[in-house]
Amino acid sequence: MRKILVFLMLAMVGLALAFYINYQVQSGDTLYGISKGFGIPIPVILDWNPDISPSSLKVGQKLKIPFVPGIMYKPVRTLTLSTLAKIFFVDPEEILEVNPAIGNSVRAGKEVFVPLGKVNTSFTQLVDYIWPVYGSISSEFGWRIHPIYNKTMFHSGLDIKADNGSPVFAARSGVVKFAGWKSGYGNVIIIDHGNGIETYYAHLSKINVFVGLRVEKGDFIGRVGSTGTSTGPHLHFEVRVSSEPRDPVAYLPRNNTYVMRRVLSE
Ligand SMILES: [Zn+2]
Repeated sequence: MRKILVFLMLAMVGLALAFYINYQVQSGDTLYGISKGFGIPIPVILDWNPDISPSSLKVGQKLKIPFVPGIMYKPVRTLTLSTLAKIFFVDPEEILEVNPAIGNSVRAGKEVFVPLGKVNTSFTQLVDYIWPVYGSISSEFGWRIHPIYNKTMFHSGLDIKADNGSPVFAARSGVVKFAGWKSGYGNVIIIDHGNGIETYYAHLSKINVFVGLRVEKGDFIGRVGSTGTSTGPHLHFEVRVSSEPRDPVAYLPRNNTYVMRRVLSE
């Protein structure tokens, strides 16, 4: 009996390790080169290796590189496979394909490997913008009573409630203009889409891009958090045109809005 248990535990450790390899940085390596060579997007590599500096890889440094684009995710509540798939904007089959041991539900606190959706799927090609995160709208754009300052203030974006650590995706293709800390916003990414259009992704727990990086619509860029002025994990998402905040709902696909709102009752 004990032998079987030890074997099972080893098998589980094996499974957990099987999602990535250790790669030792060689002289002349760049993050771009490694990303291209392994076919793993830079934000995914940065998520697996939070301590590396993108501009100065050190020879001999060990990097964790997943076999397929995907990240480790630790749900804060027990999720069905179908909800997990929605959070990653993939089909449950895509998760099962690379992680057959995942089962029909993932319990809270259990870290699992989840693949990231293929960019430019038929859905993302059809629309100009995609929803940056899967969750329910907790605060709309416009004038509101601020939840912390308790006075009427203009809310320059849309708040989408999502669990801590949930993946955040670029709503549109562009170039990262800012990635770091801003007062109020906490950890924030700003993507420049050209023609004066920018999108903001605020209160992140993790930023996996850097200034100058080109991202495509649907690319994983960071993780939901509650940094800055925030009452709980959510994504504060903004669309700005010539620096003026606009209502993001007007830009995001409506059919998905329905899906997003329905999640509330799940
Ligand atoms: Zn907000």
